[in-house]
Amino acid sequence: MQLIFEKSVEGRRGFEVPRSDVGFKAQIPQPYRRRRDCPLPEVSELDVVRHFTLLSQRNYSVDTQFYPLGSCTMKYNPKFTEVIAAMPGFADLHPLLPQLEDGEKLVQGALEVIFELEQWLCEITGMRRFTMQPLAGAHGELTGVMIMAAYHKTKGNKKKYIIVPDSAHGTNPATAAIAGYEIVAVRSDSRGVMDLNELREKLTDEAAGLMLTCPNTLGIFNADVDTIADMIHAVDGLMYCDGANLNAILGRCRPGDIGFDVMHLNTHKTFTTPHGGGGPGAGPVGVVEKLVPFLPISLVDRREDGTYYLNYDYPESIGYLSSFYGNFAILLRAYAYILMAGQAGLKAISAHAVLNANYIKERLKPYYKIAYDRPCMHEAVFSASEQARRGVHATDIAKFLIDQNIHPPTVYFPLSVKEAIMIEPTETESKETMDRFVEAMIQADELSRADPEAFHDLPKTTVVSRPDEVKAARDLNTNYFAR
Ligand SMILES: *Cc1c(COP(=O)(O)O)cnc(C)c1O
Repeated sequence: MQLIFEKSVEGRRGFEVPRSDVGFKAQIPQPYRRRRDCPLPEVSELDVVRHFTLLSQRNYSVDTQFYPLGSCTMKYNPKFTEVIAAMPGFADLHPLLPQLEDGEKLVQGALEVIFELEQWLCEITGMRRFTMQPLAGAHGELTGVMIMAAYHKTKGNKKKYIIVPDSAHGTNPATAAIAGYEIVAVRSDSRGVMDLNELREKLTDEAAGLMLTCPNTLGIFNADVDTIADMIHAVDGLMYCDGANLNAILGRCRPGDIGFDVMHLNTHKTFTTPHGGGGPGAGPVGVVEKLVPFLPISLVDRREDGTYYLNYDYPESIGYLSSFYGNFAILLRAYAYILMAGQAGLKAISAHAVLNANYIKERLKPYYKIAYDRPCMHEAVFSASEQARRGVHATDIAKFLIDQNIHPPTVYFPLSVKEAIMIEPTETESKETMDRFVEAMIQADELSRADPEAFHDLPKTTVVSRPDEVKAARDLNTNYFAR
C-alpha cells in the first residue's frame, strides 16, 4: 500500500498537465491556489471497490430480501422500466427544450407520454384531468388541498377546517395544516372505518372538505364513501382521496365514481419506481370537471393537428408547483408499466395484493391480535399487545426480524392501534417468501413466551445494534466529525 502511494505521488509530479487543465488553473487567482498537495488518502482501486461493495451489502434492499413495510411499501419495480427510463431519446432531453423556438418539435414524444399517461390515469380513477407535476405523494396532497382552497375562494365560501379520520395516513393532517386549515379528527368505529355519527356531529358549513385515505391505514375499504360524500357535498365541501395505495383497488373501483372530487396517486408505489428513503417519486393529482381550472400549469394539451404542447393558458390555475413538468423519468416508468400490465394485468395487481395480505392475516391471526378482524385490502394491521404483556414490544419483534434477514414491517402506526404491526406483502411476493416471513413471526411469538429477556439485545447481526432512538430523534447529529 505504501509503495502504491509513493509511486502515485511521484507519478503525479512528472505528469504533464493537459492543456484544458492549465487554462482552468489559470482562471483561479494566485492567492486562492493550493500551495501543498492535498493530503487525500490514496488507496488502490481494489480496496475502494471492496469498501463500497461491502457497504452496499450492508444496505437492505428489495433486490435481496422481503420488504413488508406497510403503507409506504416498495411495490413492484421491474427492471425493464429502468431500461426504458434510460433510453437516450428520453433521458437526454433537456427540460428547457420546449422553451426554445421550434423546441416543441423535439419533445413531441415526451409530451405524448405525459398526455397518454394522463388519459390512462383518468380512465383508471374516473377523474377528469390530472396534473403530473407533484414530486411525491405528500406534494400531491398539498397540490390537491391548494386546489380545494382555490375552489372555495372562487366561490366565496368561508371554510375553516378539513376533516381527517384517525385512520388517515399521517401526511393528510400535516398537509391540511400546511395549507392553512384547521384539522378536525374523527375516530374510527368498531369496524375500523370512520364513525358516521361522530362525523355528523362535527360537520358544519365551515368544512372545506374531508381527506380519506382509501383504503385506510388499517387496510380497510370504507364502504360508506358514497354516504360520506353526500354529507360533505351538502355543505359544498370537497372529497379528497389519498390514493397512494391504489394497488388495492386497481381495476375494481374508481374513486371518481364513488364521490371523490380530487385525489393523488403515488406512481412510485402503485406503478413502479424504486423509492427507498423517501424518494424519488411522482404524485399525480386528478380532479373532477369543476376543479380542472385550478390545476397547476402547465398541462399537456393536444392540438387539432395531433401535435402536443405545454398549455399555460389556465387563468384560474394555482400556478407552478415544481420546476418544469414533474419527475418525467418516473412518469415514463409508470407509462411503460401500465402499458405492460394492460387492463387484465391491472386487475391482477389488486387481486394479488389483496390475496397476499389476507393470506398473511389468516396465518398470523392465531399468534397476534388482529386490529380489526375482517377481510383486509392491501395490508393487515396486527397488535403486539399480548406479546407486550410478556415484555416484548412491537419494536422488539422488529429487531428480531432484522436478525432473520427480514425488513421489519411498519410498527407503531397507525397510532389508533396499540403496539401496531402493519404488514404489506405487496402483489408480487411468492407464497414461499410469505411463508418464511410468517414462520419468523411465529418464532418471535414463541420466543416471547419462552425467553422474553432474549429480545433486549437484538439485533445481533447488524453493525449497529440498538441506537438510542429517542436521543436520535431529539438530538439528531449526522456529522461524523462533530461527535
Ligand atoms: C406513502 C403514502 C403517502 C405519502 O407519499 P410520499 O410519496 O412518501 O410523500 C401518503 N399517503 C399514503 C396512504 C401513503 O401510503
